[in-house]
Amino acid sequence: MQCRIDWERRYQLMRSHSAAHVLAGVFCNETKATITGGNLDLEKCRFDFSLEEFSRELIEELFKKANETIEKDLPIHVTFKPKKEALEDKSLFKLEAKEYIEHLPEEVRIVDIENFDKQADGGTHIKSLKEIGKLTLGKISNKGKNNRRVYFSLG
Ligand SMILES: [Zn+2]
Repeated sequence: MQCRIDWERRYQLMRSHSAAHVLAGVFCNETKATITGGNLDLEKCRFDFSLEEFSRELIEELFKKANETIEKDLPIHVTFKPKKEALEDKSLFKLEAKEYIEHLPEEVRIVDIENFDKQADGGTHIKSLKEIGKLTLGKISNKGKNNRRVYFSLG
């Protein structure tokens, strides 16, 4: 059997997934948000988090910071760490649901946006942030204190 990667689709998802890293980094650095979920699609992406304060102004400010970070074109590196060592660094695990921690492999893959954010992660990413393009904030919706939702697209 032969498989072929739909490269255009894969590349779009690499970009939007990497964008979600930038948002997670900015939201967690600038506020006390924890990330509760998300959904990445080709056209429109969704990003869910838990945060006390929720206003369009705040989210716009965070997106502005995210775009400034992207403009810096920071490189993305992939490294590995022994599980025991990785678990000592809580900032590597930004998702609120922690079930996946039980299933970590002995060598944990770390996705490192240089001098910005590191996360334990198994996904596919672009090489440096400029490939993402500009993030455009779409609708925001309030699903309750523990579930704020924003939509965004990539420029
Ligand atoms: Zn990732």
